[in-house]
Amino acid sequence: MENLADLKTLLASPKRIAIVTHFKPDADALGSSLGLSRYLKKKGHTVAVVTPSDFPEFLEWLPGSEEVVALSKKTDEPMKKAIRAFQEAEIIFCLDFSNLARIHDLAEIVKMAPAKKVMIDHHLEPEPFAHFKKWSVQAASTAQLVFELINELGGRPEVDADIATCLYAGLMTDTGSFRHNNTTAREMALASELIALGANPSEIARLIYDVNTPSRLRLIGYALYKNLVVLPESSTAYITISQADLKMFNAQTGDMEGLVNYGLSIKGIRLAALMYDRGEEIKISFRSLGDFSVNDLARKHFNGGGHKNAAGGSSKLTLEQTLKKFLDLLPLYQESLPPNS
Ligand code: 5GP
Ligand code: MN
Repeated sequence: MENLADLKTLLASPKRIAIVTHFKPDADALGSSLGLSRYLKKKGHTVAVVTPSDFPEFLEWLPGSEEVVALSKKTDEPMKKAIRAFQEAEIIFCLDFSNLARIHDLAEIVKMAPAKKVMIDHHLEPEPFAHFKKWSVQAASTAQLVFELINELGGRPEVDADIATCLYAGLMTDTGSFRHNNTTAREMALASELIALGANPSEIARLIYDVNTPSRLRLIGYALYKNLVVLPESSTAYITISQADLKMFNAQTGDMEGLVNYGLSIKGIRLAALMYDRGEEIKISFRSLGDFSVNDLARKHFNGGGHKNAAGGSSKLTLEQTLKKFLDLLPLYQESLPPNS
């Protein structure tokens, strides 16, 4: 961080702080927010963590998650709390996103809030809305950037087992359990450090991955059996899921997590997509192998972005129209997606 000394000065006395992360937060978004929140509270600050939507049930065990102000379609109480938190905050930390559109209804509120903003993120092509930036695309997770910042602030002695657990959850999931190509010696060293500080790797993996409901497994089975389409001529695989499908299996927030990876696990496939109908919009996930940038694809055509090999977006078209748009784009990328023999 360029102006670290200024941030240190700002944090030298107790402040009112709000932390916000992206819509439908994943373990990195929520883990880094809760880890940072606990650290800041230990330093004497008053902290509110706000999420622009609900979050998956499999993250409810994260230490501190019960204090999260999660916006809800059912009641506007959390929105009132969130507005107050942002208006009163002297510092707003923006974690695991760098495009304001990713916090949906909170974008304008955060942008206009009088607080100093601190962005901590690892996504491509950030927007310039923050006074302080801890940003690196080389980092596999936002959690590790939070850990680095805590160290830079001299806060290492404050990192307890709960903070280490929250950060490990983010690191583990954003590296795909240390399998993705963002896993380097740095990530492994950090994992080791967090374990030494009290994170329990098998317990965290179990709490995040081994908590399927029968209906989620059946939804995955159904989607793979009925809705997976493989296009060997463009090394592409995709899955579409309609609202009726989601209803049939009573799908919950987070149930779709990881499903896109099945497409990419097929031998020879270099691009995988998942499109599902959330009702208000079609949510899209992309994954790729090698040089094909799904960040470019999502940003140019689907209102989104992310990383080179993992990105997401959305569409206001119908599911069928969204799929057609995607299929019509494939020939443009023929060179990077050669037929798979
Ligand atoms: P997922 O497909 O798992 O939802 O997301 C893959 C990656 O893309 C994650 O790093 C996520 O933060 C990012 N991402 C997902 N959806 C969007 C989106 O709508 N806009 C942007 N800018 N990034 C997204
Ligand atoms: Mn992340």
